[in-house]
Amino acid sequence: MKILLVEDSATIRYAMCAYIENAGHETIVAESGEQALQIIDTTPVDMVIMDVEMPGLDGFETTKLIREWLGDHWIPIIFVTGKSEASSLEEGISAGGDDYLIKPVNQVILNAKISAMERITEMRNQLAKLNEELTILSQRDDLTQLYNRRTFEQKAADLWDYATRHKTPFTIILLDIDHFKLYNDCYGHPAGDKCIQEVARALLSSLNRSADLAARYGGEEFIAVLPDTHEEGAKHVCETIRSAVEALEIRHRDSSVSKCVTVSIGATVVNYTTGTDLIFQIDQADRALYCAKRAGRNQAIIREFNPYSKVLVVDENEESLESSCQILRGHCSVIPLSHSEDCANFAEEYYPDLILLDIKPDSNHQQICQKLKNNDKTRSIPVILMCESGIEELKRFGQQVHANGCITKPFEANQLIAKVNQFLNLN
Ligand code: GH3
Ligand code: MG
Ligand code: MG
Ligand code: MG
Repeated sequence: MKILLVEDSATIRYAMCAYIENAGHETIVAESGEQALQIIDTTPVDMVIMDVEMPGLDGFETTKLIREWLGDHWIPIIFVTGKSEASSLEEGISAGGDDYLIKPVNQVILNAKISAMERITEMRNQLAKLNEELTILSQRDDLTQLYNRRTFEQKAADLWDYATRHKTPFTIILLDIDHFKLYNDCYGHPAGDKCIQEVARALLSSLNRSADLAARYGGEEFIAVLPDTHEEGAKHVCETIRSAVEALEIRHRDSSVSKCVTVSIGATVVNYTTGTDLIFQIDQADRALYCAKRAGRNQAIIREFNPYSKVLVVDENEESLESSCQILRGHCSVIPLSHSEDCANFAEEYYPDLILLDIKPDSNHQQICQKLKNNDKTRSIPVILMCESGIEELKRFGQQVHANGCITKPFEANQLIAKVNQFLNLN
């Protein structure tokens, strides 16, 4: 083991080094707490033997800093001290030490303590390795070794966020084995399991990019997401998957589609993820899959999600912001914004087709409207004001700031859609 010995007394350092090295360990020496921290920062060590009484940082302070610095990475720290009182021992343990030696140090006791700590370190390392293996196992589906649904949901959400941040397209593919119940009925459950495994392998081998993610979504259903993938790419991958499954040539006597096992595929290509969400888009892929089944199976149907209309919804009240966005989602691309003062910047960046702006007539919202209308880039974007005050007051305010329309709160979903539809043609 590589042991860091921290000791300010040269005599004791010399003796202890000899003890430790006689027992077959390597020593690195620090003459102060400060020097120990520098060494820990740059050199991996397996154990620390630490003097308590030192000028500058004492052993307890140094230990606290080492523990902070190493975080989850545990190494044993043994204190060496001239103080034998119980309170001093207690202080050392609470500072993050693991054992305690009283000076003068006996060579046999020192080496016995090092051996005991070595054993604990080994056990901890084994435990960490097992934990790592367990984490991997818990992320996978037993039968196919693909990611399970729970892990898929976490990883896909991260990929979705990335696509939103970088404004890149996102493809979601759902596939389902055709007439699989009949396959099970005909060939038995174990053969069904084997079939699922082979389809999983065919799916995996059809995905080429390291960022692509595949998972078992349900019984005989799989899901894949392909970040940064447009319609052409999606078409290509869907056809590769479909033909890879067909090429397995797994005999399926009772299928009405083919002599062999086939899959139906539904996909959605989201060209612009802002304003829509992953769950909604997985549902769109599921609808496309349903259409592929209805259209005769063994085929892929791909839907493109092109939010032709982007609506910027600005409301400082998070709850009412979410409720307006909820009404509009699925009809258009919705960009929610709870900081009114950022409205002009967002309008410039996203160039929405319409702005829905919640206002309080007596606040600085007048300036926000003026900013939009004074800017060449955003002047032509229609603005609908939303407000809780009476319609007459709202109309007056709207005229002052050259808004294009207004709607009083609370409103029903169909009232908001109708109002927005005066300016856009929603899906
Ligand atoms: P469709 O073509 O419309 O998709 O019909 P289907 O028969 O494939 O679909 P359905 O949903 O009716 O049946 C799916 C079957 O998949 C039923 C279920 O017993 C079987 N299944 C689900 N998970 C497993 C599994 O892990 N192993 C095996 N062998 N079968 C499974
Ligand atoms: Mg000392
Ligand atoms: Mg199914
Ligand atoms: Mg099926």
